[in-house]
Amino acid sequence: MSTKVFITELPNCDICKSNEKKEVTAKYDGLTIYGSWANMCEDCFQDYGKGLGTGQGQELILKASTKEVR
Ligand SMILES: [Zn+2]
Repeated sequence: MSTKVFITELPNCDICKSNEKKEVTAKYDGLTIYGSWANMCEDCFQDYGKGLGTGQGQELILKASTKEVR
């Protein structure tokens, strides 16, 4: 069970985008208090996230591009 997911490119925060029309790099992918899933930045995760854990939320970790595999 991992609460971290390694990705090559961080998405933008869905909540900042819809609420404030801002582009903020997301740090978490998780369940919100509204019952839907969203990419969330640190602040939004504190305010709207249900927490980390399986079926709840994962921390997004930027993966350094080690190998260029195509
Ligand atoms: Zn946000």
